[in-house]
Amino acid sequence: MSRNKKSMLTRCAHAGSRRENDGPNAPFQPPIVQSTVFDLGNAGDAEAIFSGARPGFAYSRFGNPTVELLAGAIDDLENGAGALVTSSGNAAVLCAVVAALEGRKGPLVTHQDIYGGSFELLQILASTCRVPVETVDATDAGAWLQAMDGAGAVLIETPSNPLMRLIDLSASVNAARTGGAPVIVDNTVATPFNQQPFAAGVDWIVHSTTKYLNGHSDMIGGCVVKREPLTPKNRRVHKNLGGTVNAFDAWLVLRGLRTFPLRMEAHNRNGETVAAWLARQPSVARVFYAGDPSHPQAALFRRQMKHGGALLSFELKGGADAATRFIDRLKLVVHAVSLGGLESLATRPAMSSHRGMPPEARERAGISEGLIRLSVGVESIDDLLADLEQALV
Ligand code: PLP
Repeated sequence: MSRNKKSMLTRCAHAGSRRENDGPNAPFQPPIVQSTVFDLGNAGDAEAIFSGARPGFAYSRFGNPTVELLAGAIDDLENGAGALVTSSGNAAVLCAVVAALEGRKGPLVTHQDIYGGSFELLQILASTCRVPVETVDATDAGAWLQAMDGAGAVLIETPSNPLMRLIDLSASVNAARTGGAPVIVDNTVATPFNQQPFAAGVDWIVHSTTKYLNGHSDMIGGCVVKREPLTPKNRRVHKNLGGTVNAFDAWLVLRGLRTFPLRMEAHNRNGETVAAWLARQPSVARVFYAGDPSHPQAALFRRQMKHGGALLSFELKGGADAATRFIDRLKLVVHAVSLGGLESLATRPAMSSHRGMPPEARERAGISEGLIRLSVGVESIDDLLADLEQALV
């Protein structure tokens, strides 16, 4: 695919603009094509569209002009060769896993501390659909790389949500290559602003566009991006799993992408400041933040990521009771799940995103009852720190 050499700032400011395709006097903003069906034309036209001989649209679950613009914009941000937009991040994980496992033997290898929704999805695939899933403790780098060997496909989340552990993408790709296992990376938390997984040679990237890519906490969506061109089989999986997004939600993400780099600069700045501030508070026992200079994987961070982002978690010395008090005292920071919006959000993963994980699995993954996760927003840093300070008392 041809590479647009303009900076991410410029590309995002023009995300989804149709000027190159439309004639003069076209609207700058892309239209929301709210139509289930498209006129197929005569029999010959219909045949050309259905056979793929000519690009065209037939039915919005198979493809839609607004949704295609979003696929192109995210593909461009990730430097991919093709993208498929989905109705949620979970639908993106499902789509990528099914597409990557097609024609492969061996289990889907993943690690313990992935997002709770992905964990539950894989549990359902394993129990109901008999998809073999092997969950490895990736903090044991030897065991992790060894598991790549017989893998059917690999699903990695780095930094992991909520413990901000990193997984070495290049080393994982090299180990997976021996057996030819495709590697999928969930880049939701890092975002293409802070991490470019295709540079490390991974095969698929998935996103919950619900988070930083849209950035406004007003829709649910996802995306799958491939390093190599999408095959007809890949498209078949996407359209028949049924998790396609509607044109309006796709348009919202395109609108959100316009400010994506600006928002990420602000998120990164606030994330770093809040993590460092929390680490200095006497009532805080531990802070988990990818960009922390004393993070045990700081060397890997410097190799793999550009910035630490704005998602972090921490434990209070007072444990779960202190965590409850802290959350109840927050005034500006919203007690809510999700991440990546303009507003700061706090949640306790054991009570929310990771509630569906059995307590033993949570414990093995290192997610304590008292762990608090913060999605740091773009508010004034003084207002944010003031709220955190009064809540810690
Ligand atoms: N991946 C990660 C890392 C997430 O944090 C989430 C949601 O929180 C998802 C995937 C699922 O995204 P969605 O809620 O859009 O289905």
